[in-house]
Amino acid sequence: MAIATINPFTGETEQTFEPHSDAEVERRIAAADAAFHALRATTFAQRAEWMRAAAQLLDDEVEELARLITIEMGRPIAGARAEVRKSAKGMRFYADHAEEFLAPEALADPSAVNASAAGTRYAPIGVVLAVMPWNYPLWQVLRFAAPALMAGNTGLLKHASNVPQSALYLDTLFERGGFPTGAFHTLLIPASGVERVLRDPRVKAATLTGSEPAGRSLGSIAGSEVKHVVLELGGSDPFIVLPSADLEKAATVAVTARNQNNGQSCIAAKRFIVHTDVYDDFVRLFTEKVAALTVGDPLDETTDVGPLATRSGRDELAGLVADAVAQGATAVTGGTVPDRAGWFYTPTVLDGITPAMRIYREEAFGPVASVYRVADREEALAIANGTTFGLSSAVWTNDADDEEWFIQNLDAGAVFVNGMTISYPELPFGGVKDSGVGRELAAAGIREFCNLKTIWKG
Ligand code: NDP
Repeated sequence: MAIATINPFTGETEQTFEPHSDAEVERRIAAADAAFHALRATTFAQRAEWMRAAAQLLDDEVEELARLITIEMGRPIAGARAEVRKSAKGMRFYADHAEEFLAPEALADPSAVNASAAGTRYAPIGVVLAVMPWNYPLWQVLRFAAPALMAGNTGLLKHASNVPQSALYLDTLFERGGFPTGAFHTLLIPASGVERVLRDPRVKAATLTGSEPAGRSLGSIAGSEVKHVVLELGGSDPFIVLPSADLEKAATVAVTARNQNNGQSCIAAKRFIVHTDVYDDFVRLFTEKVAALTVGDPLDETTDVGPLATRSGRDELAGLVADAVAQGATAVTGGTVPDRAGWFYTPTVLDGITPAMRIYREEAFGPVASVYRVADREEALAIANGTTFGLSSAVWTNDADDEEWFIQNLDAGAVFVNGMTISYPELPFGGVKDSGVGRELAAAGIREFCNLKTIWKG
């Protein structure tokens, strides 16, 4: 894939970039390694000051950055602005909390290990490679970079090839905030260039957000090098609606949970599993609201759903729906590629899904919702857990017993009750099964790329 900005609204190539040469990649790895030795000697307070200054740049430049996101990957402008602000907030969160999350811990009774004192400390590990996707071109990167740099690590970013201008903005952001040169830089390289970087002995660990094949490839290379990885891969999150739920609210939130960011979110609700007692009412409300979404120019403030980020993504989504419809599913609304420029897909609700259909198993990365009718909570759980994914989940109920039962039994990295899944800096984020390994955000996220050093004193 060429490294280029191709506007998904027009389908036109706006700017193409030459990949970095081998010599430039080498220079950047060396700079990241050298910066690590400088950064690890700085205090939390110093790094927090730089992090806050970098966050302020995002706030100051929110308009141009939001426009860039929208032009590179099609996110409606209001959401793009929210992404910039959320990224700045996440950076400040780690500026405020890194020291507390990485505080040394002392063993209460050191005599149990024949010591005068014993405990643990967190130490940074060095250069971490981040392979990142285009769907939240700022937030996905900063939720890695903020904790990594606050811990004293340095970062190298291989961003998705279709968001090079976002990647280049991030290339200078931390240096502009005051971090030493080399603390965080972008490598403009294709996916095929990742292996060489990951095998470099100066690179100590890696994180990837993206598709399962990309995650498996990175994970196996890291395994062969005995390097730690965090993988945040796909999801096909269930959104379960039970008879005691507030149906109107559930249907309203369901529309956002499925269609925000043009449906291209790993934690989007993708499968709507609804108890038969409320199925017809829920599907009617949900479908009316989906059909009422405004599809159009993502730079227009009134647009709810813009184009998909890439032509291949749109074609893949259209193929999933076509496969389901050919095997008997019904598009209650949508199910079409609109006759217009750009990579649009009409927001869709699909009913009558069976296990023979690809969409039963595969992630629909776009504005396509599948609805499932179930007779009881056991059947709801069986469908919810019946995929290889396990990222997040949502349950709508006002019954305390049902709530607890689903929290205990859903195979997912998170359970949201009477709300949609959102990533918060304050809460850990990550999946089980094929949705990934490790956690981002909160205390767990900053500790992933640290050496938990045991200290024993005789
Ligand atoms: P990819 O996984 O291909 O891209 C994500 C990142 O990984 C990009 O930087 C990409 O680089 C890189 N990459 C791709 N293949 C490899 C590899 N073998 N080794 C190392 N790095 C690699 O996602 P796509 O953009 O192709 O989207 C395909 C599907 O992935 C989506 O339909 C969706 O299902 C899922 N996805 C999930 C995301 C999430 O948030 N969990 C985000 C994006 C996609 P390059 O761009 O140069 O190929």
